[in-house]
Amino acid sequence: MRSKLVKVEKMEVVSQLAASISHEIRNPLTVVKGFIQLLKTPSLSQDAKDRYIQIALDEINRAEAIINEYLTFAKPASNKVERLMVDDQLRKVIQMLAPMAHMHSVEIVEQLQPAAIVGNIQYFQQCFLNLIKNSVEAMPNGGTLTISSFLHGNHVIITIKDTGVGMTTEQMNRFGEPYFSTKEKGTGLGTMVAVKMIQTMQGTLHIQSEVNKGTTLTITFPKAAN
Ligand code: ADP
Ligand code: MG
Repeated sequence: MRSKLVKVEKMEVVSQLAASISHEIRNPLTVVKGFIQLLKTPSLSQDAKDRYIQIALDEINRAEAIINEYLTFAKPASNKVERLMVDDQLRKVIQMLAPMAHMHSVEIVEQLQPAAIVGNIQYFQQCFLNLIKNSVEAMPNGGTLTISSFLHGNHVIITIKDTGVGMTTEQMNRFGEPYFSTKEKGTGLGTMVAVKMIQTMQGTLHIQSEVNKGTTLTITFPKAAN
């Protein structure tokens, strides 16, 4: 009986991850579609054609990489768990999101102390990419994003603090619920994937938020043994 329950839960995770694949590849596919439509423009210069084709190819490659990453997650055998430095991984994620933050006039403050946990690097990166992206999106008129990591007893604590739109109690309660989104083009899968990945890595998530003031997410993981 018990093992059946576990199996059902696992399948649910897999189907939810499958749903998030479509979430993640929607943007690149939309870009590809747009540029292919542009290629139909009469009397387009060869130079413009070459550029549009290159953009479409780059986006297809991106979509492919994302799918590979998710399918790797879905295979139990390749759920590689290793010791990872949260500060290094967070720096990588921040670097990926820096252009987007810059576009939103968001200033990023890093307070990263070295700390190790045990987990899957791709889960970790995907999780924090989704959470930090939301924080940037919560500040459409700019603001400050403060990301910190530190050791506290046997735990590693990561905080993501924004000065954005904040959440109501109802929104906070629905955080992580699949398809819950307050955004016009949102899909509501980013937090679901992030919460699942935090749970998989034995972590917890705490939300503190005030409307029009901002949100602070506190994620706690067990510290890796030395
Ligand atoms: P999406 O970003 O596509 O809307 P997510 O699952 O990533 O989907 O987020 C779900 C919802 O949670 C968002 O639409 C938003 O209402 C809320 N949310 C998440 N993070 C924040 C944040 N930092 N500030 C305000 N609201 C947030
Ligand atoms: Mg999101």
